[in-house]
Amino acid sequence: MKEYFQKIYKGSQKEFYSLAEKNLIDEKKMFVITANPETLMIAEENETLKNALLDDQTVIVPDGIGIVKGAQMFGIKEINKTITGIDFVNYLLEKCNEHKKSIFLFGAKKEVIEKFTKKIDEQYPDLVIAGAVDGYVENKQEIFEKIKKAKPDVVLVALGIPNQEILIYENLKDFNKGIFVGVGGSFDVLSGMKKRAPKMFLKYHLEWLYRITVEPKRIKRFLQSNVRYIKIIKKERKQLQGKE
Ligand code: UDP
Repeated sequence: MKEYFQKIYKGSQKEFYSLAEKNLIDEKKMFVITANPETLMIAEENETLKNALLDDQTVIVPDGIGIVKGAQMFGIKEINKTITGIDFVNYLLEKCNEHKKSIFLFGAKKEVIEKFTKKIDEQYPDLVIAGAVDGYVENKQEIFEKIKKAKPDVVLVALGIPNQEILIYENLKDFNKGIFVGVGGSFDVLSGMKKRAPKMFLKYHLEWLYRITVEPKRIKRFLQSNVRYIKIIKKERKQLQGKE
């Protein structure tokens, strides 16, 4: 586990945003994984996700407060604030509009993606939507072939962890440029179809609590991965302390 934390981005949100903007302007390739404890837990069992996380080309940012807590448990003080995927998506939309760049949206339900693209068109008139496809198509690789042809500056994939990261990772070598991000349920929220947690929840890093409250089916998934996560970190920390 510690290897992930050693690799997680250590700068501030502002520094991370500047890096992304620079890559966008310079037409560089960048793969961002917005991690929460569940991401790391899935990687324990999923070799491709693990490889994606540990790949030199990937930038991992601490999306959830659980990652900040885990970093503290390992004594990595530089990781002290979250950089959330949903805020990053908003930032990318703004910058694409400012620099007249193109974006490809892939994932979420048909009505969600339709609403989201409409909203983007209205709010960001200079941004070019290179394509928008819902995430319930049978052949997801086929959509990636379309994305390759479109050569967009930003590719947002909203299929949930780990499918979105795996698809990006397996296709990344075929792109010469692009900022790629797996954005989970962000389209649902940004389209207005699902509510983001109220400000008070965000302030106290309790977005996870809000999501569980409105979608109780998430409780089991949440508890399973988070309890295991803390256990594994504690065990590994003990082993590392024993070696010192
Ligand atoms: N999704 C999709 N195709 C699928 C499965 C899921 O497009 O085959 C979408 C789903 O509609 C949602 C997103 O993937 O917009 C995953 O959201 P969730 O909140 O579960 O992801 P998390 O942020 O928890 O990874």
